[in-house]
Amino acid sequence: MTEQREALYDACAARSEAQRGHMLDLEKAGICVFCAEHFPVYHREPVEIRGRYWYVARNDFPYAGTSAHYLIVPYVHVSSFDELPDEAGAELWSMKRALKERLDPLAVATVERSGDMRYNGGSVAHLHVHFVALDVAPSQTVRFRVSSKGDGEAVI
Ligand SMILES: [Zn+2]
Repeated sequence: MTEQREALYDACAARSEAQRGHMLDLEKAGICVFCAEHFPVYHREPVEIRGRYWYVARNDFPYAGTSAHYLIVPYVHVSSFDELPDEAGAELWSMKRALKERLDPLAVATVERSGDMRYNGGSVAHLHVHFVALDVAPSQTVRFRVSSKGDGEAVI
């Protein structure tokens, strides 16, 4: 009997062919790039800040239009914020504060998708928070998808 495991990636949410290929390779190998033991091997950008619950690194695939794009990731593999204790929420706030102080941007935006990635627009099942720094004149509008495609076709 083969064991059916949850998908780790939604390659449909990839924003480039390089990212899509990376996701498909990792999915095939059963490797979650955001699980702490895999991150240093499969993510190019190094961890810059470490907390008790979260680590922080630049996104390997920054969104166009951002002046900086960081990922704040829990060490444990969860897909939803409410699987972490309230103390993790407090630490998340301090991570955001540290990034803001470091980058000193004009403005920031954070996006956290929670739950089933087939419906929240995410590309990796492991919970992560996007932290983007914004400039006065971005090369293009920064956009985050936070739902399924809305074409009535569920990806299962
Ligand atoms: Zn994981």
